[in-house]
Amino acid sequence: MVLPRRVALREVEATLREFAAWVDEQVDVHGVREGPLCSELTTGSPLLVMGARRRLELAALPAGRVRPRFTIEDERLLCELPSDRLLDPRPAVERWLRRLARQEIPPRVDHWAGELDLHPRRVIIGERTSRWGSCSSRGTLSFCYRLVMAPPRVVDAIVAHEVCHLAHLNHSKRFWSLLDAACPWHREAEEWLKEHHEAMIL
Ligand SMILES: [Zn+2]
Repeated sequence: MVLPRRVALREVEATLREFAAWVDEQVDVHGVREGPLCSELTTGSPLLVMGARRRLELAALPAGRVRPRFTIEDERLLCELPSDRLLDPRPAVERWLRRLARQEIPPRVDHWAGELDLHPRRVIIGERTSRWGSCSSRGTLSFCYRLVMAPPRVVDAIVAHEVCHLAHLNHSKRFWSLLDAACPWHREAEEWLKEHHEAMIL
Protein backbone atom coordinates (compact mmCIF):
# COMPACT_ATOMS: atom_id res chain seq x y z
CA MET A 1 0.00 0.00 0.00
CA VAL A 2 1.38 3.43 -0.94
CA LEU A 3 0.08 6.53 0.79
CA PRO A 4 0.45 10.05 -0.56
CA ARG A 5 3.00 11.99 1.47
CA ARG A 6 0.76 14.65 2.93
CA VAL A 7 -2.41 13.18 4.33
CA ALA A 8 -4.20 13.76 7.55
CA LEU A 9 -3.72 11.10 10.19
CA ARG A 10 -7.47 10.58 10.17
CA GLU A 11 -7.34 9.66 6.51
CA VAL A 12 -4.47 7.27 7.09
CA GLU A 13 -6.49 5.50 9.76
CA ALA A 14 -9.52 5.30 7.50
CA THR A 15 -7.39 3.89 4.70
CA LEU A 16 -5.86 1.31 7.00
CA ARG A 17 -9.28 0.26 8.19
CA GLU A 18 -10.44 -0.12 4.63
CA PHE A 19 -7.33 -2.07 3.78
CA ALA A 20 -7.87 -4.41 6.75
CA ALA A 21 -11.43 -5.03 5.64
CA TRP A 22 -10.19 -5.74 2.13
CA VAL A 23 -7.61 -8.23 3.47
CA ASP A 24 -10.38 -9.97 5.39
CA GLU A 25 -12.31 -10.31 2.16
CA GLN A 26 -9.35 -11.49 0.12
CA VAL A 27 -7.60 -13.69 2.61
CA ASP A 28 -9.04 -16.91 1.47
CA VAL A 29 -8.99 -18.70 -1.81
CA HIS A 30 -11.36 -21.52 -1.00
CA GLY A 31 -14.36 -20.59 -3.05
CA VAL A 32 -17.65 -22.15 -2.10
CA ARG A 33 -20.03 -21.35 -4.87
CA GLU A 34 -23.58 -21.76 -3.76
CA GLY A 35 -25.05 -23.26 -6.87
CA PRO A 36 -28.67 -22.90 -7.92
CA LEU A 37 -28.62 -26.66 -8.45
CA CYS A 38 -30.28 -27.85 -5.30
CA SER A 39 -31.12 -31.40 -6.19
CA GLU A 40 -34.09 -33.04 -4.61
CA LEU A 41 -33.32 -34.83 -1.37
CA THR A 42 -35.23 -38.05 -1.16
CA THR A 43 -34.76 -41.73 -0.40
CA GLY A 44 -31.83 -42.89 -2.50
CA SER A 45 -30.15 -39.46 -2.72
CA PRO A 46 -26.39 -39.73 -2.28
CA LEU A 47 -24.95 -37.67 0.56
CA LEU A 48 -21.34 -37.23 1.59
CA VAL A 49 -20.75 -37.51 5.33
CA MET A 50 -17.15 -37.12 6.47
CA GLY A 51 -15.95 -38.28 3.10
CA ALA A 52 -18.11 -41.40 2.98
CA ARG A 53 -20.83 -41.65 0.40
CA ARG A 54 -24.11 -42.52 2.10
CA ARG A 55 -27.51 -43.15 0.65
CA LEU A 56 -30.27 -41.17 2.26
CA GLU A 57 -33.19 -43.18 3.48
CA LEU A 58 -36.28 -41.39 4.71
CA ALA A 59 -38.67 -42.95 7.16
CA ALA A 60 -41.51 -41.70 9.33
CA LEU A 61 -41.01 -41.42 13.08
CA PRO A 62 -43.51 -43.29 15.23
CA ALA A 63 -46.63 -41.18 15.76
CA GLY A 64 -46.26 -38.61 18.51
CA ARG A 65 -42.47 -38.24 18.09
CA VAL A 66 -41.28 -35.00 16.55
CA ARG A 67 -37.54 -34.92 17.02
CA PRO A 68 -35.69 -35.95 13.82
CA ARG A 69 -33.48 -38.99 14.28
CA PHE A 70 -30.40 -39.78 12.20
CA THR A 71 -28.59 -43.08 12.13
CA ILE A 72 -25.63 -44.12 10.02
CA GLU A 73 -25.81 -47.79 9.12
CA ASP A 74 -23.39 -49.24 6.62
CA GLU A 75 -23.87 -47.32 3.41
CA ARG A 76 -27.02 -45.52 4.41
CA LEU A 77 -28.01 -42.51 6.40
CA LEU A 78 -31.37 -43.23 7.92
CA CYS A 79 -33.32 -40.03 8.52
CA GLU A 80 -36.50 -40.40 10.54
CA LEU A 81 -38.85 -37.45 10.52
CA PRO A 82 -42.43 -36.70 11.54
CA SER A 83 -44.48 -37.87 8.59
CA ASP A 84 -45.62 -34.35 7.65
CA ARG A 85 -41.99 -33.34 7.13
CA LEU A 86 -40.93 -36.21 4.90
CA LEU A 87 -41.61 -34.21 1.76
CA ASP A 88 -39.07 -31.58 2.73
CA PRO A 89 -36.23 -33.27 4.62
CA ARG A 90 -33.66 -30.65 3.65
CA PRO A 91 -33.95 -28.41 6.76
CA ALA A 92 -33.53 -31.42 9.06
CA VAL A 93 -30.57 -32.78 7.09
CA GLU A 94 -28.99 -29.34 7.10
CA ARG A 95 -29.43 -29.00 10.88
CA TRP A 96 -27.99 -32.46 11.43
CA LEU A 97 -24.92 -31.69 9.30
CA ARG A 98 -24.44 -28.40 11.11
CA ARG A 99 -24.53 -30.18 14.45
CA LEU A 100 -22.03 -32.74 13.16
CA ALA A 101 -19.77 -29.93 11.96
CA ARG A 102 -19.91 -28.29 15.40
CA GLN A 103 -18.85 -31.61 16.92
CA GLU A 104 -16.11 -32.43 14.46
CA ILE A 105 -14.47 -29.17 13.42
CA PRO A 106 -13.65 -27.40 16.74
CA PRO A 107 -11.54 -30.35 18.04
CA ARG A 108 -9.58 -30.22 14.77
CA VAL A 109 -9.00 -26.49 15.34
CA ASP A 110 -7.74 -27.28 18.86
CA HIS A 111 -5.44 -29.92 17.45
CA TRP A 112 -3.87 -27.57 14.88
CA ALA A 113 -3.75 -24.63 17.25
CA GLY A 114 -1.70 -26.82 19.61
CA GLU A 115 0.46 -28.21 16.82
CA LEU A 116 1.32 -24.74 15.47
CA ASP A 117 1.03 -22.86 18.75
CA LEU A 118 -1.31 -20.38 17.09
CA HIS A 119 -4.56 -19.81 18.90
CA PRO A 120 -7.72 -18.31 17.43
CA ARG A 121 -9.85 -15.99 19.54
CA ARG A 122 -13.03 -17.43 18.22
CA VAL A 123 -14.21 -20.26 16.02
CA ILE A 124 -17.44 -19.96 14.06
CA ILE A 125 -19.08 -22.78 12.17
CA GLY A 126 -20.91 -20.71 9.62
CA GLU A 127 -24.39 -21.18 8.41
CA ARG A 128 -23.87 -19.37 5.17
CA THR A 129 -20.39 -18.59 4.15
CA SER A 130 -18.94 -18.14 0.71
CA ARG A 131 -15.74 -19.97 1.62
CA TRP A 132 -14.78 -23.28 3.18
CA GLY A 133 -12.78 -21.41 5.74
CA SER A 134 -11.60 -17.92 6.52
CA CYS A 135 -9.53 -16.04 9.05
CA SER A 136 -10.17 -12.48 10.15
CA SER A 137 -7.63 -9.95 11.35
CA ARG A 138 -9.22 -10.24 14.78
CA GLY A 139 -8.28 -13.90 15.00
CA THR A 140 -11.69 -15.36 14.26
CA LEU A 141 -11.71 -18.54 12.22
CA SER A 142 -14.90 -19.35 10.34
CA PHE A 143 -15.77 -22.58 8.60
CA CYS A 144 -18.64 -23.58 6.37
CA TYR A 145 -20.60 -26.35 8.07
CA ARG A 146 -20.70 -28.33 4.82
CA LEU A 147 -16.96 -28.89 5.19
CA VAL A 148 -17.95 -31.83 7.41
CA MET A 149 -19.05 -33.64 4.24
CA ALA A 150 -15.35 -33.95 3.34
CA PRO A 151 -12.99 -36.65 4.62
CA PRO A 152 -11.23 -35.86 7.92
CA ARG A 153 -7.89 -35.35 6.16
CA VAL A 154 -9.44 -32.68 3.95
CA VAL A 155 -11.06 -31.00 6.97
CA ASP A 156 -7.65 -31.07 8.67
CA ALA A 157 -5.96 -29.42 5.71
CA ILE A 158 -8.50 -26.58 5.56
CA VAL A 159 -8.31 -26.08 9.32
CA ALA A 160 -4.49 -26.09 9.20
CA HIS A 161 -4.65 -23.53 6.37
CA GLU A 162 -6.80 -21.14 8.42
CA VAL A 163 -4.74 -21.64 11.60
CA CYS A 164 -1.60 -20.73 9.59
CA HIS A 165 -3.35 -17.46 8.68
CA LEU A 166 -3.18 -16.54 12.37
CA ALA A 167 0.56 -16.12 11.76
CA HIS A 168 0.37 -14.70 8.23
CA LEU A 169 -2.83 -13.02 7.13
CA ASN A 170 -1.97 -13.41 3.46
CA HIS A 171 -0.85 -15.99 0.94
CA SER A 172 2.80 -15.02 1.09
CA LYS A 173 5.74 -17.42 0.68
CA ARG A 174 6.12 -17.56 4.44
CA PHE A 175 2.48 -18.54 4.78
CA TRP A 176 2.83 -21.40 2.27
CA SER A 177 6.05 -22.71 3.78
CA LEU A 178 4.43 -22.80 7.22
CA LEU A 179 1.45 -24.69 5.80
CA ASP A 180 3.63 -27.01 3.65
CA ALA A 181 5.63 -27.98 6.71
CA ALA A 182 2.61 -28.49 8.95
CA CYS A 183 0.29 -30.18 6.49
CA PRO A 184 2.12 -31.49 3.40
CA TRP A 185 -1.11 -32.91 1.91
CA HIS A 186 -2.98 -29.62 1.74
CA ARG A 187 -2.80 -29.39 -2.05
CA GLU A 188 -4.40 -32.80 -2.49
CA ALA A 189 -7.10 -31.68 -0.07
CA GLU A 190 -7.80 -28.58 -2.17
CA GLU A 191 -8.00 -30.78 -5.27
CA TRP A 192 -10.45 -33.08 -3.50
CA LEU A 193 -12.67 -30.11 -2.64
CA LYS A 194 -12.64 -28.89 -6.22
CA GLU A 195 -13.51 -32.34 -7.55
CA HIS A 196 -16.32 -32.86 -5.06
CA HIS A 197 -17.69 -29.35 -5.11
CA GLU A 198 -21.03 -30.37 -6.60
CA ALA A 199 -21.47 -33.33 -4.28
CA MET A 200 -21.05 -30.93 -1.37
CA ILE A 201 -23.92 -28.69 -2.37
CA LEU A 202 -26.83 -29.53 -0.17
ZN1 LIG B 1 -5.93 -18.73 2.78
